[in-house]
Amino acid sequence: MTGFATPDASVIERLKAIVGPSGWRAPDDAARYFDDPRGRFHGRGHIVLLPGATEEVAAILRACNESCTGVIPWGGGTGVVAGQLSPDSDNAVILSLERMNRVREIDVQDFAMVAEAGCILENAHAAAAAQAMMFPLSMASKGSCTIGGNLATNAGGIQVLRHGNARDLCLGIEAVLPSGAVLSELAPLRKNNTGYDLRHLLIGSEGTLGIITAATLVLKPLDPETVTALCALTSPTQAQRLFAALRKRLGESLSGLELLSGLGIRLVTRHFSALRDPFDQPHAWFLLAEMSGPEGLRDRVETALADFLHEDLLIDVVIAQSEAQRANLWELRERTPEANRAEGAFCNSDTSVPLSRIDAFIGATHRGVMAIQPGLRINSYGHIGDGNIHHNVFPPEGLKKAEFLADHPGLVETVREEINRVTDAFGGAISAEHGIGRLKLEDLERYAGSAKLTALRQIKAALDPNGILNPGALLRG
Ligand SMILES: Cc1cc2nc3c(=O)[nH]c(=O)nc-3n(C[C@H](O)[C@H](O)[C@H](O)COP(=O)(O)OP(=O)(O)OC[C@H]3O[C@@H](n4cnc5c(N)ncnc54)[C@H](O)[C@@H]3O)c2cc1C
Repeated sequence: MTGFATPDASVIERLKAIVGPSGWRAPDDAARYFDDPRGRFHGRGHIVLLPGATEEVAAILRACNESCTGVIPWGGGTGVVAGQLSPDSDNAVILSLERMNRVREIDVQDFAMVAEAGCILENAHAAAAAQAMMFPLSMASKGSCTIGGNLATNAGGIQVLRHGNARDLCLGIEAVLPSGAVLSELAPLRKNNTGYDLRHLLIGSEGTLGIITAATLVLKPLDPETVTALCALTSPTQAQRLFAALRKRLGESLSGLELLSGLGIRLVTRHFSALRDPFDQPHAWFLLAEMSGPEGLRDRVETALADFLHEDLLIDVVIAQSEAQRANLWELRERTPEANRAEGAFCNSDTSVPLSRIDAFIGATHRGVMAIQPGLRINSYGHIGDGNIHHNVFPPEGLKKAEFLADHPGLVETVREEINRVTDAFGGAISAEHGIGRLKLEDLERYAGSAKLTALRQIKAALDPNGILNPGALLRG
């Protein structure tokens, strides 16, 4: 980002004219575009542009490309790796897609929905539900994150196990390339082998190759029955065994599987007084399992869980009997990121390992972190069904984060590096679902391998020769 000069006043006037008087904001009137959900970064920018149509996005990129002005795409601002934030320079323009938020079309026969990039994920859910369908991508940030941001980060979430991540749920894309050219491939095709798949290149590119303006999303039929159960367990090894048993017994109907720790449940009930641990006694680990499928599924699930109890695959289980109980169980999971922050987490990881190695990975990570500094607390939780475990690390009980870190300089980096090292040793990925952004640039450089890094840089140079799109994110500018 530092390579870009302050945009010329005439360029800014040209950009303002493209979007009109209600289509831009000065930085001092735009605080929310500079906030980081975890409070670690503070973004900057020269102006915030709010285009209302794809043609306006195209005109903006033409103007920025001609003047070599950096552009940072902004969806809902929920990204946690600073991909949407420019902490080091205010020379870029921020491009928010929030005014392009319509669901353009729902095609029931094609099981597809065309949504604009600024459409909030929860609104896409509501639009699908109104047609008795569902869009299965879901995550705790669903009330703020956008379809454009979800695709740009190839977001995962809580139903990847059955329905896949954002990439698997996108049939077509409309995007503006850095030159201002509009790529329009929104047809709801299940098969399209006509050359390089630019859709998949743009998905997960974190705003560095093009601005996604709309997408054709996969819809699924609603399942008649959904069963949600919280299982109490002794260890991640038992969680892994239960996962295997659930999969074997219930197959494709297993739609969500989240690991929670005893510490995590204590934190979420400590920081959200309305939430309760549904068990009478404390447990060390939990699996939150959701199954969706045809009528009769509840009976099958209840029988299976009773069998698993007898086979010592779980210690106890609570099965939601109403939608309200189901929502309460999910809140224990979905409030976890906020509870971690309130408790003073100083390290949040997002790594993945092969399914077969999850329990060993959790054990090795805990041992590695404890060897650095005994007494640290670790809340390991997350999408165990995808091998995606988040480790949040806290100071010892009773110690405040700021004071503790002041007494332990360098600890944050050392812990982060240890988690990455163990992840790599287990054949994992240093970013599972959040992306690289500006936070993990060095990690990517360390772990990606030279062939991959060279190819990434060549792709970037080919599509964005002036390097205007999200400079300094994913790859160094
Ligand atoms: C409480 C909480 C829970 C979360 N849970 C999950 C989870 O379970 N799974 C998961 O995957 N993520 C999760 N996230 C991370 C985040 O919500 C996702 O990365 C989400 O996809 C970001 O969407 P956004 O619209 O907020 O994008 P932003 O944060 O605004 O941007 C993210 C990146 O996408 C780029 N971008 C945004 N819009 C566009 C566009 N239209 N075209 C091109 N590039 C664009 C930005 O430049 C940036 O690099 C969570 C975050 C929070 C705060």
